[in-house]
Amino acid sequence: MTRLPCRTKAVLGSAAAGALVVSALAASPVAADPAEGTCKTFEDPQFIGWTTYDELGPKLQRIARNSNGRVDVEVVGETELGRDVYAARVGTGDRIALVQSAIHGNERTGTEALLGILRTLASSNDPATRRVLEEVTLVAMPMVNPDGGELNRRTNVISWDEVITRHPQLEGTDPAWYHRPRNLGIDLPGFDLNRDFNADLGYEPRPEDLPGRQVDAGFYLSPESQAIRDVYVDLRNEFGGVDAFVDLHHMGACNWQTGGDQDGRLISLALDYPPLGPNDGAAYQDEWPLLDQDKSRRYSLAIADGIKDHYGSQSPIAAVGRYFHPDAREFAGQARSAFGLNGTASVLFEVRGQSHNFGQKMKGMLTESVQTGVESMLDAMATGEVDTLNGDDFFDYPDYGWDQGSTD
Ligand SMILES: [Zn+2]
Repeated sequence: MTRLPCRTKAVLGSAAAGALVVSALAASPVAADPAEGTCKTFEDPQFIGWTTYDELGPKLQRIARNSNGRVDVEVVGETELGRDVYAARVGTGDRIALVQSAIHGNERTGTEALLGILRTLASSNDPATRRVLEEVTLVAMPMVNPDGGELNRRTNVISWDEVITRHPQLEGTDPAWYHRPRNLGIDLPGFDLNRDFNADLGYEPRPEDLPGRQVDAGFYLSPESQAIRDVYVDLRNEFGGVDAFVDLHHMGACNWQTGGDQDGRLISLALDYPPLGPNDGAAYQDEWPLLDQDKSRRYSLAIADGIKDHYGSQSPIAAVGRYFHPDAREFAGQARSAFGLNGTASVLFEVRGQSHNFGQKMKGMLTESVQTGVESMLDAMATGEVDTLNGDDFFDYPDYGWDQGSTD
């Protein structure tokens, strides 16, 4: 399958295998994904209106400059193609939140939402903002896969030969299962970075572990995943732990419907806790005793409730549900799984559609829903409310139609 949004109907994925192969430099439109049948089509591969890599650094620097010292921006890594990976830090509290976006390069609402959150925290003085600044430390990584983002595709860009150069002990092994020769019609190899994580934060790649399987931990083979891991480890060393990790994505298809209060309407946002296999990851509990799936659900619930409270339960922005999560679903190599196993409450955001599907109005609406969701979590951390919720209440949120297709 060449086309792989976070969730793809298998039957549609195979249809998309015939997507037009184009050169990366030409950046021509790729064939529209049939899964996006009701969406705006991919008319503009230059993704006008979304923040580009070149714009991101200056935007972050401007926010920091105008923040009266509240926001610090740091370069925390460098991609294979030499682009910077940024982390912006704000707040002085001892409750720690790490939020990243665009690990899948073409999933962009989270970047805009994080910029909005940073602008608010940089300049607002209302009591709720001040409380967040006092109680929480937020580290935002708004674009962790700029090489993929600039190609408007999911994977980063790195050849297996380059991986071997960086990790010579892997000479002669088969490539990791999540390394791809091409992605979205672009003939440049790279990783699905959100499979490159391991709960063992000091893990060094070993040839006998490769190529691995979907259910297994990943190998930290890419500079981007290493940078994210290092930020997490540094926070843990500084504060003793990271309370929350949020990973901002798009679900690909944009015609999924939800149930519950908004039965039959299009879902705006689906949330999830780590997919660690049967019985809430029971098989991991001995080795990773800090794993707390209920805590991840409490944080997810704070986000869902916050969005509903903010917009009203019938708002199209508040069509919030649970992401695809059958009991057996297992992805130990995802960042949220690796950090969840280390005791961090981990929440996945899956926004409807793909970035290039949207006109300005829909783009604004979905970006707002992500921003409000993350802000709701920060607020619930600052007040302590997140600790008082019942994680089981997250299950009262509707799924978004898991029977509408299988997952890949
Ligand atoms: Zn994704």
